[in-house]
Amino acid sequence: MTKRIGFTTSLPIEVLYAAGHIPVDLNNIFLTQDSAKHIHDAELKGFPRSLCSWIKGNYSAALASDLDEVIGIVQGDCSNSASLLEMISEERLPILRFSFPQEREYEALDREISKLEAHYGVSRNQSMECKRYLDSIRKKLIQLDILTYQERKVRGSENHLWLVNASDFTGDPHAYERDLEEFLYQANHRDPFPIRLRLGYVGVPPIFRNLYDTISELGGEVLYNEVQRQFAMPYLCDDIVEQYLEYTYPYSVLGRLNDIREQIDIRKLDAIIGYTQAFCHLQIDNLILRKHIDLPFLNLEGELPEKLDPRTILRLESFFEVHT
Ligand code: SF4
Repeated sequence: MTKRIGFTTSLPIEVLYAAGHIPVDLNNIFLTQDSAKHIHDAELKGFPRSLCSWIKGNYSAALASDLDEVIGIVQGDCSNSASLLEMISEERLPILRFSFPQEREYEALDREISKLEAHYGVSRNQSMECKRYLDSIRKKLIQLDILTYQERKVRGSENHLWLVNASDFTGDPHAYERDLEEFLYQANHRDPFPIRLRLGYVGVPPIFRNLYDTISELGGEVLYNEVQRQFAMPYLCDDIVEQYLEYTYPYSVLGRLNDIREQIDIRKLDAIIGYTQAFCHLQIDNLILRKHIDLPFLNLEGELPEKLDPRTILRLESFFEVHT
């Protein structure tokens, strides 16, 4: 029987697809459905006001998405994940825990992926076969990324959407691939966009509705979406364990910093927009990024899924005035 399996951040979806199931990234559901209602519903259940909106959104999205099971990433993601998973379990939805071991060692991660495979009754060969197919789509996402930073034919907002949706390939990789091919064909025929400020975006995906559009209106363009690119697994490793070891997001911020510095050079970026979510522990990691990134750095904080507030727009405008 095909199951719909929710999850709280990127994990080896190859295993789920190999088992014939449908992975559902709860973050994407939260942001594309009635997000305000999801937050409200969670608060009615007692989730505190002073808790990250993504957690409340993931909770309500899990209950509203006709799921058969939810996998929580209890190591290597959010400090709230374990408690979120317990709350979901209280609603009688079966749960499963997955960890990205913090020592970032092959054997430890291999064990975690093997446990996942055992749970869903698939062999490593089956996971690898599925990985080879997903990698053929990921190669097209690399083309899309090059069209963004090298050819300037793909907007930062478009880059963000395609890459962020690669976390689960929207539950239907074949349809995703068809749409991606169509998009690439059209983008290839565009004229390059003029850009006054080449920007990188670092941090979790923004909860703001119009951040990328506002940046484009001000004359800048996001040519590097750090975490979204990680969700798209751009390293194309031959081995599934290696792939999820290269994935920087679950491990030390220093791994993220190395990746960011490398991409700043490759993409010839002028400045960085950092994003942090209100009430998120990753704000501390962001302090380290700001300290070690040697470019103008504007940090924005969002709380609710809504348009940019006037103060944030003013900060963006001032940043552009100084750096263009
Ligand atoms: S934004 Fe931070 S606190 Fe919120 S779910 Fe993501 S990691 Fe957790």
